[in-house]
Amino acid sequence: MITVAEALAALFALAPRMGTETVALRQAAGRVLAAPVVATRAQPPFAASAMDGYALTAHPQVGDRFQVVGEAQAGRHWPGQLMTGEALRIFTGAPVPDGANFVVIQEDTSRMSTELTIARDPGDGDNIRPAGADFAAGATLTAPRRLRPADLALIAAMNVPRVTVARRPEVSLISTGDELVMPGDEPGPDQIVASNTFGLAALFTAAGAQVRVLPIARDSHKAIMQAFDLAAGADLIVTIGGASVGDHDLVAPVVQSLGATLGFHKVAMRPGKPLMAGQIGAAMLIGLPGNPVSAMVCGHVFVAPVLAAMQGLPATPVPRHRAALLAPLPANGPREHYMRAQVSPDGIMAFDRQDSALLTVLAEANALLVRPVNDGPRNLGDVVDYIPL
Ligand code: AMP
Ligand code: MG
Repeated sequence: MITVAEALAALFALAPRMGTETVALRQAAGRVLAAPVVATRAQPPFAASAMDGYALTAHPQVGDRFQVVGEAQAGRHWPGQLMTGEALRIFTGAPVPDGANFVVIQEDTSRMSTELTIARDPGDGDNIRPAGADFAAGATLTAPRRLRPADLALIAAMNVPRVTVARRPEVSLISTGDELVMPGDEPGPDQIVASNTFGLAALFTAAGAQVRVLPIARDSHKAIMQAFDLAAGADLIVTIGGASVGDHDLVAPVVQSLGATLGFHKVAMRPGKPLMAGQIGAAMLIGLPGNPVSAMVCGHVFVAPVLAAMQGLPATPVPRHRAALLAPLPANGPREHYMRAQVSPDGIMAFDRQDSALLTVLAEANALLVRPVNDGPRNLGDVVDYIPL
């Protein structure tokens, strides 16, 4: 058996790196930035008022009086030079005029016609956003990074309408098994519905992939061969099931007959021990266990990080968080255990039922509590690692 870390390293070594493409900002959410974004102008591009009020040449005292000489709005500056004793009516976002060094908020003033009086102590803050306070022209947003909503707002403010991102990995997903039917089909008495196929497709899509769910391949050499034909052109082919050493586990013989290089890994983890990895033409191949919860856990622990690396993000394991146990746990055995668990602000609690056939428990879980190999018994309050789901 190899460790989870060793298995992941073997997968990273096989992962092809995607090329890049340029997309409009509206298409860029969730994509991985492949080249730095450079601001074409400063933000704000001019000193701007942060409040509705009056621009003055200097910090005033209570009782000071000023003559209101004009008005500046957002998008429309006042062209003059402000002099001592003068005030300019100004609104949030408007350019602060030449000569002005202070904006008094309107709540601290009283006004009669064009005469302005300071009615209250205006405080120390000048209520002016200096030019370039947010970023200067030439400021960069570095790559690689997965673009979040705030990144898109920043790139837009930098006046950059298109960005260079990693191409989305194309993933073909092959489910195998005579016992499987698609959801909505009429299963025979000995059949079950293909389930993890749909969980994995959603997981890979969320990880930035473009996923094709291929028709279920029956347990025959010919059917699996046909599935690989349909998968042609994918960057990553993921097979589900059919990868043990049973008489009906035909994925490995078929891919080997297709000239693929293939490795088998018995990974010291629970759930999800058997894992296949290889290369078939230009595509990477990952063979996941068929057991629904095993397949999903392996999807989180192995495939999602591989997809991230394919898109140019650092080749690292899924980030872990830490939480205190809400209930004690017995000692763990020789395999890293990914326990279905519920995490809350109070702490983390593993479900009592950890059978890897239970999708109801996985659906209830919002975390995988990670028990290290041979971890001793754990007490209430002990801090443990978890992977958010
Ligand atoms: P296998 O590795 O093909 O022996 O599959 C192991 C177990 O997982 C068997 O009970 C299969 O019926 C089940 N299984 C395989 N593929 C799927 C799938 N796509 N959805 C749900 N269960 C599956
Ligand atoms: Mg099978």
